[in-house]
Amino acid sequence: MPEKIPYELLRAAASAARNAYAPYSNFAVGAALQTSDGSVFAGANMENASYGLTVCAEVGALQAASTAGKLADVVRIGIAGGNLRADKCDGEIVTPCGRCRQLILESARLGSRDIEVWCANLDLSSIKCFKISELLPHGFGPDNLVKIKIQTGIEAETVHSGRR
Ligand SMILES: [Zn+2]
Repeated sequence: MPEKIPYELLRAAASAARNAYAPYSNFAVGAALQTSDGSVFAGANMENASYGLTVCAEVGALQAASTAGKLADVVRIGIAGGNLRADKCDGEIVTPCGRCRQLILESARLGSRDIEVWCANLDLSSIKCFKISELLPHGFGPDNLVKIKIQTGIEAETVHSGRR
């Protein structure tokens, strides 16, 4: 674990969580990511009456960074969440869902860095840091598609020369 806990980033995530639209589960999550130039982009989960269309906090933060042209510059992401109806906010840390791990990995591969994923509960009394490579080992990323294209190109050439 890196020695310095990014409290400011985690506080931004916890603050975003307070604005989560989560009337069905009451489970609020906020995410705040930091890019290499120090910019911070935040998001909060947004539920929907259809349930299935719920959007995660990490998606909002990553999309904001992408919209600013900084998807490849993400260094770390803080995620904080918990049940808003609980008496206390000292629950378990919140880790990203499978889909969000895949989205964070895309950003990591674009920037050729292993993004720090800081996970916390709402009052930041419990914090744990992971690398995205730990949360999604052997993940599928943009490099895999390039390799597939190269392999396909070689196969196509072989097939072509075989016809001569
Ligand atoms: Zn998610």
